[in-house]
Amino acid sequence: MPEKVPAKVTMEKIVSLCRRRGFIFPSSEIYGGLSSCWDYGPLGVELKRNIKQAWWQSAVHERDDMVGLDTSILMHPQVWASSGHLAGFSDPLVECKTCHLRWRVDDLKENNCPSCGGELTEPRMFNLMFKTFMGPIEDEAATVYLRPETAQGMFVNFGNVLNTTRKRLPFGIAQIGKAFRNEITTGNFIFRSREFEQMEIEYFVKPGTDKEWFDYWVQERLNWYLNLGIKKDNLRLRQHMKTELAHYALDCYDIEYQFPMGWAELEGIANRGNFDLVQHAKYSGKNLEYFDDETKKHYVPYVIEPSAGVDRSTLAVLCDAYDEELDNDEIRVVLRFDTKLAPIKVAILPLSRKEPVVELAKQVYTDLRQCWIVQYDDAQSIGRRYRRQDEIGTPYCVTIDFQSLEDQQATIRERDSMNQIRVPISTLKTVLTAKFNGEDLFVLPPGGQIWKE
Ligand code: ATP
Repeated sequence: MPEKVPAKVTMEKIVSLCRRRGFIFPSSEIYGGLSSCWDYGPLGVELKRNIKQAWWQSAVHERDDMVGLDTSILMHPQVWASSGHLAGFSDPLVECKTCHLRWRVDDLKENNCPSCGGELTEPRMFNLMFKTFMGPIEDEAATVYLRPETAQGMFVNFGNVLNTTRKRLPFGIAQIGKAFRNEITTGNFIFRSREFEQMEIEYFVKPGTDKEWFDYWVQERLNWYLNLGIKKDNLRLRQHMKTELAHYALDCYDIEYQFPMGWAELEGIANRGNFDLVQHAKYSGKNLEYFDDETKKHYVPYVIEPSAGVDRSTLAVLCDAYDEELDNDEIRVVLRFDTKLAPIKVAILPLSRKEPVVELAKQVYTDLRQCWIVQYDDAQSIGRRYRRQDEIGTPYCVTIDFQSLEDQQATIRERDSMNQIRVPISTLKTVLTAKFNGEDLFVLPPGGQIWKE
């Protein structure tokens, strides 16, 4: 086995790998970038889609008690007055009297400006919502906001979902979408940015059953991260102290991940009571009560809200998968993604750029593309190509060589163990499908053989 080097994953290594290999770039980079906005590159977009797909699959497709929504980013401004975001969605902020940089009070360790040491102003509340105008006239009456969370789109559609799907309690609504916050302190790469994506669930329950559903969702959501292949030791739950809770929240847990900069929130799960529906009923004048067929009573459901960040999950998956090991005096960098998250599932590597090897390799490529995202790579030595695929987390490489022309066999090389097996080309799909389903590579098809790189 290759020897492990005691290298720790650092944010610099992750940022550099993401930039170098096309996972994530700074936004508008040719103009010098835009502070705390990021662009997902060709591999990043696939990784992020796989994470969202895994979430949607577990939150919506695999459940009878959930439906999905995709609501608009711009909403009636009254939504934000009713939800409390206009009045309360703010952070205390101080400004340096010398360099005019602004700082979040919670982040300050001293009383002076961390940048220039200058004197700071008294704290002022700063609303985190981005404002814009709807229509041609830029006045107060035309002000709308970019949503700071996707949740409100689900609360205001509670009645629509109830009436059109005829769901009975308990049931939930799930949504994935962009959210915007004019954060004062950003940083740590995609951990805290001003434009980000959320994956949120509003799960409506009968009052009195909320505690048990809350516990259920905390466990369910923790399991989801474990199912993504994230190491158990890098995950923990943190219950909010009473002083941290929003005034309406009955309980809240954060799922935290051990990022290179320390433990930080991946997802929050809150028992929000009936606050949101009561507020929207009050300000819209619409009845948002539920009629319980069993008790023949009307009531406003309680809601459990698991609210996760797509970008933070992506960062956690990248940090967790990052590994370095010493291999023949060189450092091999590997992203050990769970196969369902890997952006490229299989790479086809011909050992020659000449016909008829190319023709055969292209045939295999076309054939496997029907099943998976497959990359064809014929540039540079085979060793370098393996390293490149390791660094982007491709679980399997298939090499086609001159021998393949004679025996119609190809080599499959596994990312994690670097084991290689030779199998008939006609069985490639079956063998790879078995591998993706977690079956043992050592069970070879007739005519196959195994060896080590
Ligand atoms: P934090 O305290 O880290 O600012 P929060 O408690 O304000 O986060 P929530 O309002 O609970 O966050 O949002 C739910 C989830 O949305 C968070 O757990 C996180 O994954 C994601 N999220 C929130 N703000 C950001 C941001 N600025 N950048 C990236 N993801 C974010």
